Amino acid sequence: MAKSSNKESYDKIFSKLKEHHKWFENSIPLIASENIPSPAVREAIISDFGNRYAEGWPGERVYAGCVYIDDVEFECMNLAKKLYKAKFADVRPISGVVANLAIYSAFTNPGDIMLAPSIPAGGHISHGKKEHSGTAGLVHGLEIEFYPFNTEEMTIDVDKTKAKIKDLKKIGRLPKMAMFGGSLFLFPHPVKELADFLKNYDIHINYDAAHVAGLIAGGKFQDPLREGADTMTMSTHKTLFGPQGGLVLGSKENEERIKKAMFPGLTSSHHIHHMAGKAIAFAEALEFGKDYASQIIKNAKTLAEVLSDIGFKVLGESRGFTQSHQIAVNVFDYSDGGKVESELEKANIIVNRQLIPGDIKAGRNYFHPGGIRLGVSEITRIGMKQTEMKEIASFIKEIVIERKDPKKVLPRVKAFRKDFQKVQYCFDNKLGAYEYVKLR
Ligand SMILES: *Cc1c(COP(=O)(O)O)cnc(C)c1O
Repeated sequence: MAKSSNKESYDKIFSKLKEHHKWFENSIPLIASENIPSPAVREAIISDFGNRYAEGWPGERVYAGCVYIDDVEFECMNLAKKLYKAKFADVRPISGVVANLAIYSAFTNPGDIMLAPSIPAGGHISHGKKEHSGTAGLVHGLEIEFYPFNTEEMTIDVDKTKAKIKDLKKIGRLPKMAMFGGSLFLFPHPVKELADFLKNYDIHINYDAAHVAGLIAGGKFQDPLREGADTMTMSTHKTLFGPQGGLVLGSKENEERIKKAMFPGLTSSHHIHHMAGKAIAFAEALEFGKDYASQIIKNAKTLAEVLSDIGFKVLGESRGFTQSHQIAVNVFDYSDGGKVESELEKANIIVNRQLIPGDIKAGRNYFHPGGIRLGVSEITRIGMKQTEMKEIASFIKEIVIERKDPKKVLPRVKAFRKDFQKVQYCFDNKLGAYEYVKLR
């Protein structure tokens, strides 16, 4: 009895995995934090590297057996440094959150103050306060002050930020760190405009490029390390080519503190298979990143413009809606972000609900916020261009504005999706983007 039910569970898991692959093969994936890796990255992450330990720095490991791992990790660091024109790269963080934690640990102490964007202004929970279970507050004991945010321009307000820092200093709450970057991230943050001012107060500047790392790599967003950021953290799988992981970049003078924070502080195993996958992804980004990033920007702008023409309230209108891979839409005229998310999902259009500026004041919460967020990184990676953005906008209109039954739209979504089954912007794409691989 026990035996057969274990085998049933085992089989069930594989059937769910296969169903998931099939679903995504037939979907329009618009989650801004997701992307699809190439078959090459997938090959790296099923290698034996995933079964090994390589604690410490390459060449100075704690365990034997790291000969080839060290070679790959050195290559990975070199590719990361080349891609971002950085003097120092630590490729060990297993995620963007861990990368941020490394920066908090290396450059602040518990009780210090960090300036960061609030969540409705685009901040990430890893920059958040303890009372919201934000990583910075909960795990490292930082206190958080929010940047003044300009909701018309959808970015940090430079003058009000300067005034706020002066005021904070007067009351003995001068920040130790300024965190730029965010999760709802339509326009570059004013790093260049604030860097000198912040440095005068000895405030460490970190730029969290989790979302826009691929755009920065492709030269299509801002260039934080040239604009005055001391360090840069990121996830490797949002606009970058995957796999899931993190990366920290900085200068030589920051190197030792970051290395110590990362190991033994924040990693034991650093998921070596993903490290190899990152190396492949960096090579792909160096080769194809410029074309990919420019197509992302074209797609995002087109999708935003068409949605706005159709009647949607797209945020950031005064600035052309977006300069990134993201679009934020206020859907409160029709429903709320939570309901829209679930209606669209029934038609295989995968988006996420989004808190937008004004939501908290209006008493709206994370489950029923005023907005949705759309990202075009994944659909761009599988080869979609401006023409497809128009079709996607019209599917969304049918469901959200015209309130058509999503089930009626679904067959057309599937048919639309058929021609985009290979990962583009990569060296090899023999395997289908969502093809399930059976090894058993
Ligand atoms: C997604 C995100 C992270 C967290 O990255 P993980 O790789 O999921 O840990 C950190 N910061 C920002 C701004 C993000 O959007």
